[in-house]
Amino acid sequence: MSAVIYPTTNLSATEQLLFERGEGIYVYDQSGKQYLEGLAGLWCTGLGYGNRELIDTISSQLATLSFSHTFGGKSHQPVIDLADKLAGMVPVDKAMVFFGNSGSDANDTHIKLLRYYFNAIGKPEKRKIITRERAYHGVTVAAGSLTSLPANLAHFDAPLDALGILRTDHPHYYRGAKPGESEADFVARITANLEQLILSEGPDTIAAFIAEPITGASGVIVPPAGYYEAVQAILEKHDILFWADEVITGFGRTGKLFGCETVNIQKPAMMTFAKQLSSAYYPISASVIRGDLYEPMISASNEVGVFGHGFTYSGHPVACAAALKTLEIYERDGLYANAASVGEYLQSRLQEFADMESVGEVRGAGLLAAVELVSNRDDRTPDVDLAKRATLACQENGLIVRNVAGNALAVCPPLIITREQVDEMVDKLRRSLEQALSP
Ligand code: PMP
Repeated sequence: MSAVIYPTTNLSATEQLLFERGEGIYVYDQSGKQYLEGLAGLWCTGLGYGNRELIDTISSQLATLSFSHTFGGKSHQPVIDLADKLAGMVPVDKAMVFFGNSGSDANDTHIKLLRYYFNAIGKPEKRKIITRERAYHGVTVAAGSLTSLPANLAHFDAPLDALGILRTDHPHYYRGAKPGESEADFVARITANLEQLILSEGPDTIAAFIAEPITGASGVIVPPAGYYEAVQAILEKHDILFWADEVITGFGRTGKLFGCETVNIQKPAMMTFAKQLSSAYYPISASVIRGDLYEPMISASNEVGVFGHGFTYSGHPVACAAALKTLEIYERDGLYANAASVGEYLQSRLQEFADMESVGEVRGAGLLAAVELVSNRDDRTPDVDLAKRATLACQENGLIVRNVAGNALAVCPPLIITREQVDEMVDKLRRSLEQALSP
């Protein structure tokens, strides 16, 4: 056993697969066995592996200026260019951008920005945040409190009570609807619950509502039509900010530039990015906020003399150069369009599984999808064992998928995947599922 404490791993069963190299959408283990990386690492390697142009950009930035912090007025061109680039892309008015290193710390930053802003405008009591059941927003002490998955809370004494986190329904119709309830009635019921929660807590005590437009870790849940329209109307009525966590759904993943567009979220006040922002070639995250939220923070920082938040690596020049080049390649090589068209093909091929006796639901958008497995389609009993066996069978067959929500298999390949490679991925998935069904 090595000295590594492995993240998100059963600590008694570590080191089962050692990877050595990657090329395109494939990775290779130490024995040279090839795997199609069907989850883009952890939903992050948009450009796949070994992208020469990106590697050259990173090497050249390392050689030119390997580090510069961005505290106290010091800056450099890559951080300025990246912030301006992002501000021009996002559906956030007069966007301002704070850089960090991970999706978790970017969400922590947002919690602090919310406090700073509401304190600055004299509403210090407006600080609770509504998250949803089954949400995943990271694992730091604060972001981990926004996460609702049991394993991320158990034994950590999470959530941290002082944060004032409220939880509302998850919009998964297949699992959450009452017998015979229509999609429209389901949406009406859970959004009425949301409004009830707001009223009982007091709208003046609630700062924001956070959501992944389409979830990842909790099973790739695509909300029913009308859900976000109803949520946005309620938030607007009660003056609560919409915060979109686009750590997975950003940059083409769901077939549109941002997940917000795919599910009709209009003009979020805040957005979180990481992962595909640099195609995971270098760690970087971005917390984006609306310009009018930033303005009052300026005078608040004057009072103290400094905006007292920042990481050593906020706006790391190599990370910024990697992100700028990544975004340039996504655009230049038509990878958003590829995610839309090849993504549509992926979704249609996965629908072939919908007839299988052990498949409860196939869902997704663009190059993000999940197949939920059940032992009985009538009562929808989750088949966790089958999902585990199928994940292992995929691995044996040279395909990496992720077992999410216990009984679902998620796929989220690099944005560079071709139709032929989608065929290879889906064929391997079917073969593995069939093997897992007759062990
Ligand atoms: N938000 C979402 C939606 C995520 O999927 C993740 C990571 N899977 C995070 C936040 C946290 O990102 P990180 O692991 O980089 O801290």
